[in-house]
Amino acid sequence: MSGLRIVLLEDNANDAELIQEFLQADHLCCEIVRVQSRADFEAALKTVGIDLILADYKLPAFDGLSALEVTLRERPEVPFILVSGTLGEELAVEALKSGATDFVLKTRLSRLVPAVRRALREASERAERKNVEQALHRSEMYLAEAQRLSHTGSFGWYLLSGEIYWSDETYRIFELDAAIKPTVQAIIDRTHPDDRVRVQQIIDRAASERKAFTIEHRLLMADASIKYVRAVAHGVNGCDPDRFRFVGAVMDITERKRTEQTLLERESKIRRLVDANIIGIIVWNFDGEILEANDAFLRIVGYEREDIGSGRVGWRDLTPQEWLPRSERALVEAGQTGRAQPYEKEYIRRDGSRVPVMVGLATFDASGTEGVAFVVDLTERKRAETEAHESELRYREVQRELAHANRVATMGQLTASIAHEVNQPIAATVTNAQAALRWLAGQPPEVEKVRQALGRIVNDGNRAGDVIGRIHELIRKTPPRKEPVDINKAIREVIELTRGEAWKHGALVQTHLADRLPLIEGDRVQLQQVLLNLLINAMEVMSGVSDGVRELLISTARADSGCVLVTVLDSGPGFAADSAERLFAPFYTTKPTGLGMGLPICRSIVEAHGGRLWASANVPRGAIFQFTVPAHPDASS
Ligand code: ADP
Repeated sequence: MSGLRIVLLEDNANDAELIQEFLQADHLCCEIVRVQSRADFEAALKTVGIDLILADYKLPAFDGLSALEVTLRERPEVPFILVSGTLGEELAVEALKSGATDFVLKTRLSRLVPAVRRALREASERAERKNVEQALHRSEMYLAEAQRLSHTGSFGWYLLSGEIYWSDETYRIFELDAAIKPTVQAIIDRTHPDDRVRVQQIIDRAASERKAFTIEHRLLMADASIKYVRAVAHGVNGCDPDRFRFVGAVMDITERKRTEQTLLERESKIRRLVDANIIGIIVWNFDGEILEANDAFLRIVGYEREDIGSGRVGWRDLTPQEWLPRSERALVEAGQTGRAQPYEKEYIRRDGSRVPVMVGLATFDASGTEGVAFVVDLTERKRAETEAHESELRYREVQRELAHANRVATMGQLTASIAHEVNQPIAATVTNAQAALRWLAGQPPEVEKVRQALGRIVNDGNRAGDVIGRIHELIRKTPPRKEPVDINKAIREVIELTRGEAWKHGALVQTHLADRLPLIEGDRVQLQQVLLNLLINAMEVMSGVSDGVRELLISTARADSGCVLVTVLDSGPGFAADSAERLFAPFYTTKPTGLGMGLPICRSIVEAHGGRLWASANVPRGAIFQFTVPAHPDASS
């Protein structure tokens, strides 16, 4: 033992010397700081590295027990030995009770060194113990922190007593109050109902077989959320079989389970996609090789797996020359962004035929030397598109046929009144010609009158010719045209044609045609067919009205969004408020010989022109039919 630092509280110099001698005689090499007052004592206590205090019991200005008090407060770890000449037994016991390490009578200083040695030994043991305790405490703290961070709690389970010990983290995982002692029942209660039987079985078996066990199960928490936990434990026997216990760890693996589940779901989706063999999938590289292909891809391109696998046929070989630039563009895109927007292309099948496909690309990694491509066969879709296009064409053709049939039928209805229209100028021509003959036969011939008669003949001939020309156009089957149409002019011509019909039904036809209307774009004959239908319908229904005037007003106006609006308004019986739409249904008619196809055909004509046709009620009676047609794009407004 060397370099001991001893604080010696002693007023008597001789005693102090004696004490030092005793110590040194026993080879206790030490440095002694001698103090006599409280102040010096307290100051000495503050020095670092004091190993021992030796204190006299009675001093003029201080005393041993007070010194003990100060020591216990300031440096409780330093051993304190009372060295006194006068200490009675009672005082000695009291001093020991108060915390003194030992006491030695000055009369028996031979005991000093053994007492010092023992005190030092005990102090060192205490210090050692404290260190160990501190280390233990630290490691417990680290362990608790590690448990918290890794969501892993620990537990001990004493089989005989049934006692279970949990670490804080285990309590946290189970979300149970740390004040409650854990039990097997508490664990079962916390377990998800569907897992309870299994967990109970594993626990029972572990208890009876005393073998290491692992359980993975779900916990149902108070807020109805679910946690996944995994517990592993092994048996610790010790020497005493009655003290057999399981020691283990319980981990909260919820996060991991969720990730696993997401991955599994994703994988199973991908698997389904691959297995379903609807979408062709290939793994490709920039060198043009196909590294892998599923059955669907092979089916699309008509190759065998060996052809692809041998590397003889790469994706560039499968791509027709004219599609290569598009494919290379997609590759550049995939190389830069990791994926390429799906695009359409064609592959050359083994038999040389072409197959239309939609391809989506994605590269696997940042370096992007390989990737996956999803290939959808578009053959069916393309066929459906062609069929749809063809049936659309057929539909249009049928519509045209129908419209033509309707026109011919309508014109048939008008035959009588048109004959009248044509007869009139012809009769006038005959009358004028007869008069001219008479004027020519006169002496002298009345040349001027003849000239005037001939002029009238030309006019009447032209009028009849015009009517016939228009009838001819209306019943002729012409392909649909797209031309600028002056709707006001078209209306006037139809009115002209239906004049006789109007007269027959006693209808008074009026017009209100807007000036400076833009031309519209479309087929004049078809639009006139619409007008013809609307006018004849109105005249027909009005003929049934016995009282009041039979008025028919046709007007045009500029409508919103660059359209022209045509309105046909009558004072007929009108229709029930809720049947405005019904009138346009095919075969809807209220006429004994009606076909019910006029209005639906009109509507399809107007819609084909990009416009709308609808009906509404007139006030106080009658019907209003209106339609819009977009103006010609070049029409100046
Ligand atoms: P149809 O003239 O052969 O009956 P339409 O499709 O042209 O076929 O007309 C269908 C029905 O719409 C007519 O039967 C008639 O009941 C009704 N309708 C058409 N125009 C008018 C109108 N101006 N006023 C009242 N009802 C009308």
